[in-house]
Amino acid sequence: MRLKYLVIHCTATPEGREVSSADIRHWHTDPVGKGGRGWKQVGYTDLIHLDGSVERMVGNNEDANVDPWEITNGAKGYNSVSRHIVYAGGTARDGKTSKDTRTAEQKKALERYVKDFHRRFPSVRIIGHNEVSSKACPCFDVQAWLMDIGIRQ
Ligand SMILES: [Zn+2]
Repeated sequence: MRLKYLVIHCTATPEGREVSSADIRHWHTDPVGKGGRGWKQVGYTDLIHLDGSVERMVGNNEDANVDPWEITNGAKGYNSVSRHIVYAGGTARDGKTSKDTRTAEQKKALERYVKDFHRRFPSVRIIGHNEVSSKACPCFDVQAWLMDIGIRQ
């Protein structure tokens, strides 16, 4: 299917706590009953760590189609036409209160990522998870942030 959305997420974990790709794999693909959600594939293609490094979690050939092997499970009903990316964080230290916890490095990395993405796929809409679901994720206003960094879509 044709790529239509780049969806930004947070891991909904406490400020300052690192999250590994292995953590996410456990949460998403471990069987229900063993602490996981039992999904076939994780929810995100790329993970942005606290230090701004970007880790690829699911293969992608970077063309304008979402191939079956590229599909990740970030937002029900949108996965066949979306790429999902996530930053580590999204809650205050209590682990519950939604908060934009992006570090300066994560903001820089995310800006670099979306600018490169938008240059290559200008017609693909960049959105936050909260624009297609009633969740707080990714805990910041993606559209306002895109305006701030000069992306008009
Ligand atoms: Zn999300």
